[in-house]
Amino acid sequence: MTRVVYVNGRYRPYAQAFVHAEDRGFQFGDAVYEVCEVMGGGIVDMERHLARLQRSLAELQMPMPMSLKALEVVLHQTVRRNRVRDGLVYLQVSRGAGPRDFAFPADGTPPTVVCLARSQPPGRAAAQAEIGISVVTLPDIRWKRCDIKTVMLLPAVLAKREAARQGAKEAWLVDEGGYITEGASSNAWIVTSGGELVTRALSHALLPGVTRATVMDAIAREGLGIAERSFTVDEARVAREAFVTSATNTVMPVVRIDGVPVGDGKPGAVSLKLRKIFREVARWTA
Ligand code: PMP
Repeated sequence: MTRVVYVNGRYRPYAQAFVHAEDRGFQFGDAVYEVCEVMGGGIVDMERHLARLQRSLAELQMPMPMSLKALEVVLHQTVRRNRVRDGLVYLQVSRGAGPRDFAFPADGTPPTVVCLARSQPPGRAAAQAEIGISVVTLPDIRWKRCDIKTVMLLPAVLAKREAARQGAKEAWLVDEGGYITEGASSNAWIVTSGGELVTRALSHALLPGVTRATVMDAIAREGLGIAERSFTVDEARVAREAFVTSATNTVMPVVRIDGVPVGDGKPGAVSLKLRKIFREVARWTA
């Protein structure tokens, strides 16, 4: 349960944590965010998450709301004050509040900073990984700067709802050329029938996942090859293995795509191995 929320310099009881009705995050989706996994009270890959936050802010011409060091303190304090040992910590920065106007607010308008942390049973993702998840493919209807981690998540919300309606946990979004961009809230990977490990190369079409980067470190450590290239839905359907990566699920095997079993319909060996070594490669700070 969330107990206290950091809002603009104060740690407030959950029920009393508010932002302004004219906050630009609320009005325009004019805000960016990060979600980090918390493990044993430590924050996983915090440096990479904060580096991405810094990049998202810069791309949107928003100043850093405080120093990196101060943001680290906010993240750690929020985790501690909510007594989270295993779970997640969420950080959002918006362009602040001001009379609703498309123009940026006046210089000096303070950004809105919100941080909350929540416990999640550590065994839940592990149990899911043992059976894997189903995904469905859906058209990618998002904007052309998906590399920026904004709170404009309506397409993801709708895709997740459609996935759930079809009995799946995640949606794989497909671009106009028939290539998979990424999951609604994860990066998409396959091991092809020829044994090649593939994930799409970074571009404006997808989020540079922190877990994706750390899994790449794990792959390099193991001396495995990787092809960063686009792959089609058809290629994915005949893949030997598939999986998704995200901070909250690390490496999660995919066992069905659009109802069709991937490989033998069980989590693949490479996927499970990468899930295991992720823990050894990821850096976490207590
Ligand atoms: N793509 C999208 C669209 C996402 O929302 C997420 C989760 N934030 C990811 C990829 C995975 O990124 P990360 O590994 O940094 O959680």
